[in-house]
Amino acid sequence: MPLSGVFLLLLFLNHSLLAQAPKNESYQVSEVDVLADLNYLSSNELSGRETGSAGIELAALYIENHFSESGLSPYFDTYRDNFYIGKKQAYNIVALLPGTDESLKDEYILIGAHYDHIGEGKEVNGDAIANGANDNASGSVGVLQIARQLSKIGGNKRSILFVLFSGEEMGLKGSEHLSEKLKGHGIDLYTMINLEMIGVPMKAKDYMAYITGFEKSNMAEKFNEYSEGENILGFLPQAEQMSLFRRSDNYPFYKNFNIPAQTICTFDFSNYPYYHHVDDEAENLDAAHMASLIRHLIPGILKMANSEEKEIKLKES
Ligand SMILES: [Zn+2]
Repeated sequence: MPLSGVFLLLLFLNHSLLAQAPKNESYQVSEVDVLADLNYLSSNELSGRETGSAGIELAALYIENHFSESGLSPYFDTYRDNFYIGKKQAYNIVALLPGTDESLKDEYILIGAHYDHIGEGKEVNGDAIANGANDNASGSVGVLQIARQLSKIGGNKRSILFVLFSGEEMGLKGSEHLSEKLKGHGIDLYTMINLEMIGVPMKAKDYMAYITGFEKSNMAEKFNEYSEGENILGFLPQAEQMSLFRRSDNYPFYKNFNIPAQTICTFDFSNYPYYHHVDDEAENLDAAHMASLIRHLIPGILKMANSEEKEIKLKES
């Protein structure tokens, strides 16, 4: 075994030990797995994953392969949900983990993130590729890793859709398309959770991530209760001031289904200086934080998929 292999093995052992730590840390999402996905999805080879480009095609192939290896089947005939933006062909990637309960399996939870980015940005030191590591390779990795874990755990009563959206940077095009299509099919969608920019930890907060549209539903409250009382999701005033609830792929699902559809994020405008900047690179993210947050999201999603009643509800406004 070459030296690099020994190093990887040590890292891996180290993480399996860490992974046996208390309760929510027990899900096997390692920093090594997170980095493998993150490094590829934000590599120069993918040229900034612009919708309609050859680079995003490589990202799509990687995601399809990931779902397939995790034992998830396509929701439609293939993993791809095709649509057009002008003449550009685009595709969301949609995988299904079927529910196991006769009466609850026709209810769905959707866990999503956009995998497209802006292609090129303003050149800095000869680099013009906007790799979009935080925006939103990080959220994409979250969906892939949660999908893998939930598929392994199995037994979820409700069905779960895992979706990587395209066309987000062009105006939430992928989520608009899919939400209208699913609405047309009459699907019973219970909740939608969107992961966006989860690559850096929040500073000096008593929660791990904020949720957009905090006041619109009891999602954060129930989620924290489901997570054995750990304070996972919280309220960030700037998210409300900047109307972030309407600025990511959760919004079309809220609009079309009138359900709790919200975004989980750890970017608070002060903890990462590379938003839509060519230096939004994997090396500037914190993979240990990502792995920890992803592990901590799993129990809440599991409870959501298994509760007898639909306990997460919009609040009267
Ligand atoms: Zn984004």
